[in-house]
Amino acid sequence: MIHFSILGQPGQDNAVLSTINTSQSIHRILFDCGEAVLEGIPYSDLQAIDHLMFSHLHMDHIAGFDSFFRGVFNRTSRENHIWGPPETARILQHRFQGFWWNHAADLDAEWLVHDVHEDHIETTRFLAHEAFSVAHPEPARPHSGVILEHEAYTVQVIPLSHHGISLGYRVQEKPRTNIDMQKLNEMGLRPGPWMQHLKNPQYQEETLDIAGEPHPTQDLRAALLVEREQGSLAYITDLLIDEVARTKLIPFLKGIETLICESQFHPSDLELALKNHHTTPELAAQLAQDAGAKELVLFHVSQRYRPETWREMLELARQIFRNTRFSEHWPL
Ligand SMILES: [Zn+2]
Ligand SMILES: [Zn+2]
Repeated sequence: MIHFSILGQPGQDNAVLSTINTSQSIHRILFDCGEAVLEGIPYSDLQAIDHLMFSHLHMDHIAGFDSFFRGVFNRTSRENHIWGPPETARILQHRFQGFWWNHAADLDAEWLVHDVHEDHIETTRFLAHEAFSVAHPEPARPHSGVILEHEAYTVQVIPLSHHGISLGYRVQEKPRTNIDMQKLNEMGLRPGPWMQHLKNPQYQEETLDIAGEPHPTQDLRAALLVEREQGSLAYITDLLIDEVARTKLIPFLKGIETLICESQFHPSDLELALKNHHTTPELAAQLAQDAGAKELVLFHVSQRYRPETWREMLELARQIFRNTRFSEHWPL
């Protein structure tokens, strides 16, 4: 299951913390890290963020980085990954080095910063015990859209236009194999440890023992196993939505459960939105509609407007795509 929270308030810096809970393990991805967005997040959750993924490195998306880094700079309990568009490693190295590291020799952490290019990833390794002073480049590796392949989920990227690149992300939980319990009852089979073997593709025996009776494994699998689609979430911000972008975005977002999309400008400022490579609620809603999204969550609204205008923006989006909302934490 994928949960998410929109961090930060309307008109201020925002970010998204998403949690993938497989019931066996929990994985956390933070999308962007603007000023003060981590306030209110339990410190233990902050320290358990597996991946920090930047859309781009404008100030309003990275201003809160020090708060994140303070909690994890010497983390060795898990890998430290930061992702972003080209130049992320160069900019991040300045952030890493912006402190007095007089105890660096005692530190052990390693940081991997991944610059995501159109068709390959350039990873740079930084070591805390070197006070982050040396950038160690790793060999570039190709990608075909999927940048992270975890056993529980995948992360896909799309480069979007923001007078430069802003990366859009799609997190997709992998389908899970379950046993159809109703069918099992109908077949008069007693539940037991054999069910684990049934679900385990490594189990290659021809028969399974159920209450002392052998049953053909293949037949049981065909009759009882069902693949369940799991959750998905997309995060797109600071982007131009024109026809070229829509042609790429609609297939990328196809069937997404939750689309989180920025909505900086009121439609009356459409010209300004297009000029600055930002969106309006109507552009976001049309995209959600055309991609077959289940819900649209608008965020990153401009502070140039008053709360009543933000509410009006939400209404305008709902006229195109009904299931649109702001974060439930926003006082609107
Ligand atoms: Zn921006
Ligand atoms: Zn922004």
